[in-house]
Amino acid sequence: MLYETVPIADAQTKTARDRAEREAHKEAEKILTRLQAEADALKVGRTKATVGALLERWMAQHEIDPTTRMTYEAQIRIYIEPKLGDVPLVLFVREAAERLEPFYARLRKCRALCSGKSFVERHVEEGRHDCAVAGCKRHVCKPYAASSVRSIHAILSGACSAAVRWGWISFNPMPSVRPPSKPRPNPRPPSSEQMALIVEAAWAASAEWGLYVWLSAVLGARRGEVVALQWEDIDLGAGMVRLDENYVRTSDGMLLKDTKSHQMRRVSIDAPTVELLRQHREDCTARLALLGLTLSGRTWVFSATPDMCRPRDPASLTRRYGRLVAKLGIDTVLKELRHYSATELLTAGVDLRTVAGRLGHGDGTTTLRHYAAWVGSADRAAASTIGGRMPTLRPVDRS
Ligand SMILES: [Zn+2]
Ligand SMILES: [Zn+2]
Repeated sequence: MLYETVPIADAQTKTARDRAEREAHKEAEKILTRLQAEADALKVGRTKATVGALLERWMAQHEIDPTTRMTYEAQIRIYIEPKLGDVPLVLFVREAAERLEPFYARLRKCRALCSGKSFVERHVEEGRHDCAVAGCKRHVCKPYAASSVRSIHAILSGACSAAVRWGWISFNPMPSVRPPSKPRPNPRPPSSEQMALIVEAAWAASAEWGLYVWLSAVLGARRGEVVALQWEDIDLGAGMVRLDENYVRTSDGMLLKDTKSHQMRRVSIDAPTVELLRQHREDCTARLALLGLTLSGRTWVFSATPDMCRPRDPASLTRRYGRLVAKLGIDTVLKELRHYSATELLTAGVDLRTVAGRLGHGDGTTTLRHYAAWVGSADRAAASTIGGRMPTLRPVDRS
């Protein structure tokens, strides 16, 4: 709301008071005309706002964690801005579904948004030449992941609902736009034979690397959670590991953030794992002693620096794991260690709630969504357990 106040001058006599009031009234009317013009300009300004302007304003005040911010900024820059940046909001509101659904569909076909016609992406040599002979790189369509398109949808939804709150637009068109459906999780954990080969090979490379792979599988923890372990998180006496931080890469460098569910959790470990950790602790203590340093609660469990004052880079661990399994001829990725943990436990008949607790899933539903196929085998194990506890029946005499 725009407003201004006009003071009425003090006066002694009635005529003087009347005059003062008349003058103030005149002045107020002048101001009113000016304010109305200002309000009109503001309204036009608002309706003239573009999707790009809205996103800029929304991102400036929207509170999100640094990793999500980095993803959003990249998606706005690469995909949304070129497509919708200049589109006036009034137009966008009217045609949101018509504009977005084909756009989403094209992204799902090709993240480069190509026309679908075959073309050469990069020529090996300049001037006239035969691309087939020269071996120029032809474009191959790569679909943009459904979850990434859903993230673009989330950005636009968030910005539009803010625009409604701010009075920029009268309604949010996004609920009527259909994003691609949620991708079905498809865990493909290594078999236990493959797991044995992987752990052995990692161990042969280095004890710390072997322990990292081992612990990832035993804890079923996320990559960032294992990387973020400090010695104060590990209770060798009680056989417990505390997972409460997640190490992630952001545009500002590396930083610790709470785990996804923002819950601290304790995960039990077995005696052999305790022993491996104890050995590693001794190795670390010896490593630090060479530099005249002592191991503290804040010392990282996994570190590449001699003074162990910096955790390992998560991305480089994923690459290292990729090289390791490639050498073994096993088709898997680091993330599958977590799936391995979950599926092995479920197959062994451990109940869903316990598995969900170890994985740090808020409740069993996420676990169920990911591992429905293995929950079935847990159920079969349960069936044979109860079957084994039933009394043996005497054969019924049917004669
Ligand atoms: Zn060429
Ligand atoms: Zn393409």
